[in-house]
Amino acid sequence: MSSNFYQDNPDLKFYIEKYIDWDPLVELTEYKFQTKDGFKNVKDAVTFYKGIMDSVGEIAAKEVAPNAKQIDIDHLTLENGEVKFPPVLQKIFDKIKKLDYYGMCMPYELGGMNCPFLIFMMSNELFARGDVSVTAHYGFHGGMAMAMLFFSIIEGSTTFDRENFQIKQTRFSEFITEIIEGKAWGSMDITEPSAGSDMAALTTRGFQDEKGNWFVSGQKIFITSGHAKYHFVIARTEESESTDSFSGLKGLSMFLVPAYQEDKKGNRIKLASFDSIEDKLGHHGSATVSISFDKTPAYLIGKRGDGFKLMLRIMNNARIGVGFESIGICEAAYRMAKKYASERQSMGKTIDQHEMIADYLDEMKTDIQGIRALAVKSAYHEEMGQKINLLLTYFAPEDKKELKSLQSQMEYHQKAARAITPLVKYIGAEKAVEIAKRCIQIHGGYGYIKEYGAEKLLRDAIVLPIYEGTSQIQSLMAMKDNLMGILKDPGGFFTKNLQAHWKNKSSHNKLERRVAKLQLLSYSTLQFLMSQLAGKKFSDIRKKPVTEWGSFFKTWDPKKDFALAMLHAERLTKMVCDVAICDLLLEQSMKYPERQEILERYLERAEPRVRYLYTEIRTTGNRLLQRLSKKQDKTNRNT
Ligand SMILES: Cc1cc2nc3c(=O)[nH]c(=O)nc-3n(C[C@H](O)[C@H](O)[C@H](O)COP(=O)(O)OP(=O)(O)OC[C@H]3O[C@@H](n4cnc5c(N)ncnc54)[C@H](O)[C@@H]3O)c2cc1C
Repeated sequence: MSSNFYQDNPDLKFYIEKYIDWDPLVELTEYKFQTKDGFKNVKDAVTFYKGIMDSVGEIAAKEVAPNAKQIDIDHLTLENGEVKFPPVLQKIFDKIKKLDYYGMCMPYELGGMNCPFLIFMMSNELFARGDVSVTAHYGFHGGMAMAMLFFSIIEGSTTFDRENFQIKQTRFSEFITEIIEGKAWGSMDITEPSAGSDMAALTTRGFQDEKGNWFVSGQKIFITSGHAKYHFVIARTEESESTDSFSGLKGLSMFLVPAYQEDKKGNRIKLASFDSIEDKLGHHGSATVSISFDKTPAYLIGKRGDGFKLMLRIMNNARIGVGFESIGICEAAYRMAKKYASERQSMGKTIDQHEMIADYLDEMKTDIQGIRALAVKSAYHEEMGQKINLLLTYFAPEDKKELKSLQSQMEYHQKAARAITPLVKYIGAEKAVEIAKRCIQIHGGYGYIKEYGAEKLLRDAIVLPIYEGTSQIQSLMAMKDNLMGILKDPGGFFTKNLQAHWKNKSSHNKLERRVAKLQLLSYSTLQFLMSQLAGKKFSDIRKKPVTEWGSFFKTWDPKKDFALAMLHAERLTKMVCDVAICDLLLEQSMKYPERQEILERYLERAEPRVRYLYTEIRTTGNRLLQRLSKKQDKTNRNT
């Protein structure tokens, strides 16, 4: 067994040591090196980050991974309404607390280490390679403390000391300190028994008394680390005005709700009740809790009715987090399978020398490298977008040119993060399941036996395409973003198309030509979907150039008119993931020739996949849509 999950991973080290453009990120993170306690240059800061990665890599390898089996056996229990951690888990969480890693990316002035979000995300990967449920609980400390600060900044209740470049005051500072010190943690409470993906159906209520104090009542289920002290609760404060289910989202508000508080003697006074802890297929070290609120005092965040918008803003971080968790599981499964295959003999040789198994292992490794490229990029863009936004909010430059440049940089990063994040969540989660299943297959019968650990990885992986927005919901988001992108800027789409054509025909770089060919297939698929949308209504559109499409769409009803695109959303997402990964690996290989081999491996697999998806999208779906449409017509007639 490896003694350090960071040091034994050259692909991960490549990002920290070569690829990441640290200068702008560190400069923003360290407020241009003007803080009293912070680093004074990029080099020192990056050396510190490397130290953190090394330390987390060691804990994950020496203390988490060797205990993964025990964590899986020792379920968490609910005793007298309180969740108890088994000793093996408690020891790990005590260690994380001792090292102050719960405040890894919180600012110095709030007691944190002020590391970039990217480092926190990468630490999630390392812990997840040891045991993914440890990552889940660890993430609900730092992640929720960040959310408290983030929401407070958005609603304007955080002030900055402009001279010392530090936060003067933030609304939830006491709670943040408790979390950073490892004395409490938080959770995100959205799901209810009758509302998961369909948030418009949420029924938990937020209401005020005559003095204006807020309370929430209702039940939330399946809440990760839901035995937390601090709960972000999405609750309904306004009735929906129309029968359209999407309008229900406008009536949701975001609250911070403490589930208990302590009296002067330190006794716990319950404000909400933890009803049950779920008995799950995997993730046995992470508590999944049902919680009931009954007129529980709550803090409204932002304005009433802003709940869904606020949730979307924080959800990006969580989805990127699941992407990194997924990579951790993939890495564990690949390495376990590789080791076993190099030792197990069959028909005169080790099984890794059998063609099919060698092919599996090669594909597993290639996929992991591709997903990591995407995940690192999404975390980087998300963080840069958020930090430039912060800079503009509190330290906007007076110089107009500088201001404009910062604004356009922010938009660039935000747009890129928004485009990549659903892809990272989708492809990471799906591949974690596929790779964990392959790990079992490579182990043969031993894979199915608990003692060997391969089956645990599949049990742990299988929830990744479900929580933080299912794979289907990610696909719908990716599809919508892609099609809306064309609607908003048909000219831009046309230009991208032309550029890809040009590269495909005339680039001197063969790999660039191949990547451009994939881009063309994805653009052609998008164009096909657009032209098929609302076929009857706008049959003319097919004859028009794409630059003239904009005016057609003003009268569209997305839910009715996008049926074919919704049907193919997952296929389109798979295609867009492959193209995005190839783009990134191409960019890497141009700067770092040693990465070219990874792109070649990835392209070899992506090319037939994309061609297949292209054909599938163009040739299937209509029969099913006709059937669904007939059924809908019948329902409409009967109501
Ligand atoms: C271990 C675990 C931890 C969790 N942690 C949290 C947490 O911390 N906080 C929290 O709030 N929730 C949490 N959840 C809940 C999780 O987010 C939901 O289960 C998930 O969002 C799906 O909701 P649902 O279970 O109601 O399924 P449904 O929404 O009923 O979906 C069922 C199926 O239908 C599909 N579907 C639904 N609508 C559409 C559509 N429009 N188009 C296509 N397909 C669709 C879904 O993709 C899915 O395949 C957790 C769940 C688990 C299992």
